[in-house]
Amino acid sequence: MVLFEPVIGLEVHAQLKTATKIFCGCSAAFGAPPNTHTCPICLGMPGVLPVLNRKVVEYALRMALATHCSVAQLSRFARKNYFYPDLPKGYQISQYDLPIAVDGHVEIQMDGQTRRIGLIRIHMEEDAGKLMHASDRPVSFVDLNRAGVPLIEIVSEPDLRSAEEAGAYLRTLRSLIRWIGVGDGNMEEGSFRCDANVSIRPQGSSAFGTRTEIKNLNSFKHVEKALRYEIARQTEIVLDGGAVVQETRLWDPDKGVTLSMRGKEEAHDYRYFPDPDLPPLVIDRAWIDRVRGQLPELPHERRQRFITDYQLPAYDAGILTASREAADYFEACLQVYPHPKVVSNWIMGPLLGLLNAQDKTIEQSPVSAADLAALLQLTGEGVISGKIAKTVFDEMAASGRTAGQVVQDKGLAQVSDTRALEAAVDKVLAGAADEVSRYKAGQTKLMGFFVGQVMKATKGKANPNVVNEILKKKLH
Ligand code: ADP
Ligand code: MG
Ligand code: ZN
Repeated sequence: MVLFEPVIGLEVHAQLKTATKIFCGCSAAFGAPPNTHTCPICLGMPGVLPVLNRKVVEYALRMALATHCSVAQLSRFARKNYFYPDLPKGYQISQYDLPIAVDGHVEIQMDGQTRRIGLIRIHMEEDAGKLMHASDRPVSFVDLNRAGVPLIEIVSEPDLRSAEEAGAYLRTLRSLIRWIGVGDGNMEEGSFRCDANVSIRPQGSSAFGTRTEIKNLNSFKHVEKALRYEIARQTEIVLDGGAVVQETRLWDPDKGVTLSMRGKEEAHDYRYFPDPDLPPLVIDRAWIDRVRGQLPELPHERRQRFITDYQLPAYDAGILTASREAADYFEACLQVYPHPKVVSNWIMGPLLGLLNAQDKTIEQSPVSAADLAALLQLTGEGVISGKIAKTVFDEMAASGRTAGQVVQDKGLAQVSDTRALEAAVDKVLAGAADEVSRYKAGQTKLMGFFVGQVMKATKGKANPNVVNEILKKKLH
């Protein structure tokens, strides 16, 4: 039986987080009433001229450098011609033969392995408007607030080999975009969208099969589902002796299927030509160096540093560098409580558990890094037991109080005072005559039972080390 291997390449459109649009001064903010962020330029009036937003170039450059692309010292804008009401000019300003950046890569983590995914190109372009189709009458509405909002398109090599890998790649890309501060990567609001190209080929073959391109993928879940569906569909066709048709397909999230939308359009259908209204874009060395100098430590670099400097497992380092805020939170804790693995366990366990349950990001955490570190310090100093620490943490999250306040208000401080604990031990031993004689007869495993009883009697506040000492002395 022939086994097939999927081949996937993604085209990601990411909105850049600039205040204004790419070729005019209109606001690029999301969510305004329809057609209030418009002007003669983004409405495509005759006789107006576009002016390139410098910040867009700056942001595209940042992304290009963060993905190890070569930056073109000279790039240019091109008109991509098509007729549709979401674009009143009759063409979209994009980049075609000379994009701002080519030949990059990002690294993704798959099942503990690092995989390098190539990038063919990154180019800048303007977004189109949005159509809304009335459900009760045969009319459509056009909102041009989004027309002219800046995008970068990031085109991957066909290097991805499964739906899961495509998902991991998208998450990595989105986290990078947020990390370097050029976009918010919000799929629901359409500021991070993707088209997925997919084909299959017999395992071991190096030639590519005929691909289809899937549109309308607006969540990570849908990308992976659509790809799995499409891989299965193509496999079935080929096994039946048929041939995959190159076409554009639409993902139907309600039915969970991809549907044929149109035959594949070719570049020449768009009649690309250089936009005569915009001069070529020249980016000199100094500009590139300046932007490079402003880049923060990147996720993969920080991940590696966490592994080397803090001796963290790769798994921990990956989770802690999933966002810049998480990495900052972790390192802020270390400032106060310099025990990396303990801090990592607390972030990955109780903290992320809490944030997940409350559907919050780490920036919105009800427990600040300083407060978590203070809690861990109390544990480290033996003021509270490790077991009580989780109770204190939950109380801190619920009430917003500090660890010190919670411990004081609830009287949770660990009891290490020998005299107080001796009384508790005596009481436990007096009530367990049977166990005591079995212990003395050689069943030393019962030590755990005695410690447990004392902990219970002191509501978990006894210092277990001290209890152990006392018990050993008394049972001798
Ligand atoms: P177009 O602009 O016509 O969509 P491109 O050549 O720019 O075509 O490729 C777009 C995307 O399709 C890229 O991400 C690329 O990796 C991917 N791709 C190209 N050929 C294949 C293939 N045979 N199977 C899967 N993906 C492919
Ligand atoms: Mg395409
Ligand atoms: Zn405008």
